[in-house]
Amino acid sequence: MADANHLKTLRKRTRAVHAGTRRSQYGEVSEAIFLTQGFVYDSAEAAEARFVEIGPDEFIYGRYGNPTVAMFEDRIASLEGAEDAFATASGMAAVNAALVSMLRAGDHVVAARALFGSCLYILEEVLTRYGVEVSFVDGTDLAQWEAAIRPGTKAVFFESISNPTLEVIDIAAVSRLAHAVGALVIVDNVFATPVFQDTLGLGADVVVYSATKHIDGQGRCLGGVILGSKHYIRKVVEPYLKHTGGAMSPFNAWVMLKSLETVELRCRAQADSAHRIATALETLPGLSRVIYPGLPSHPHHALARAQMETGGTMIALEVAGGQDAAFRFLNALKIVTISNNLGDAKSIITHPATTTHQRLTEEQREGLGITRGLVRLSVGLEDPEDLIADLSAALDAAQKGAAGA
Ligand SMILES: *Cc1c(COP(=O)(O)O)cnc(C)c1O
Repeated sequence: MADANHLKTLRKRTRAVHAGTRRSQYGEVSEAIFLTQGFVYDSAEAAEARFVEIGPDEFIYGRYGNPTVAMFEDRIASLEGAEDAFATASGMAAVNAALVSMLRAGDHVVAARALFGSCLYILEEVLTRYGVEVSFVDGTDLAQWEAAIRPGTKAVFFESISNPTLEVIDIAAVSRLAHAVGALVIVDNVFATPVFQDTLGLGADVVVYSATKHIDGQGRCLGGVILGSKHYIRKVVEPYLKHTGGAMSPFNAWVMLKSLETVELRCRAQADSAHRIATALETLPGLSRVIYPGLPSHPHHALARAQMETGGTMIALEVAGGQDAAFRFLNALKIVTISNNLGDAKSIITHPATTTHQRLTEEQREGLGITRGLVRLSVGLEDPEDLIADLSAALDAAQKGAAGA
């Protein structure tokens, strides 16, 4: 078996299959699910010793850690190039713990304004309630980051590619500004996936995923993970999470662990399809805008190319004719399904203004470019030609509907 030091020299796809494997005494090929709440001790003295200091292959209680969860943590840490990882019950448990575990009253945080709704809730509603000051900036404007980051800024938080309008943030430049005042750079990296971007190499200190998305990749389990230095994960995050109960279940960890074996292949296939689909969509009538970081028409295309290998698996489209036309388009699709999730094997389409971003005011949505005609497409594993045909036929139907109305 490849040991941890040998694995470090191997490529991502190999690490995705082998890293973190811990075999039991039975020598099973596929990783085992340890569906247990607790662990037994050979003696009272052994129990006492484990509570004094816990060894690398020792466990106490499922809220603190579990062998299957540890396999998932070690494998994703290897993929991300992080020293350590802590798995959580959901992506939001990860975002919450990454921030709350390190902040206290009087601290200052700078965040990009274009965020997943629940992340915005944590920053706007939760942190401020406990005396943390939060400043919001346009994440694509370095001058705004520079003006907002100040001595006393403890963390900066942003999505490397924003949801749903796919803005690309300059990780290296923002990290330089943050590090100049000693602030921790925390990146919600869902849209870039663990495959396409060396987020820590670009300068970030902490990477957070909703494993619910591309990591599961097949729409089954909720999960999340926080990745960073050994000190941050074990001395800052772990005490907070083990006492507040955000642990990932062993069953979900097993699903996520097995999914990591194919995450590279799936994300690459999905990104290839997304590129082909975005290219085709640019030539179709009925769309006023196609937003895809992999296309030269994207305002941050050069940055996207420098930071990520590909344009990713997500496309945003603006249907000409506003909400009515967008709804007709969604309702006419036969393969692409209407849902609010993303990163699935099944292609999924969302109308953010009326679902994921409904909570925002019309003015806030306008500021973020979330118009009534905007739809977000998560490209799945279906044949891209079938998807292009489906999207094209639905666009036709949406336009004909307008002519007949
Ligand atoms: C989905 C998502 C989350 C939240 O993840 P859950 O697993 O649903 O809790 C956070 N950030 C981004 C960018 C997401 O897409």
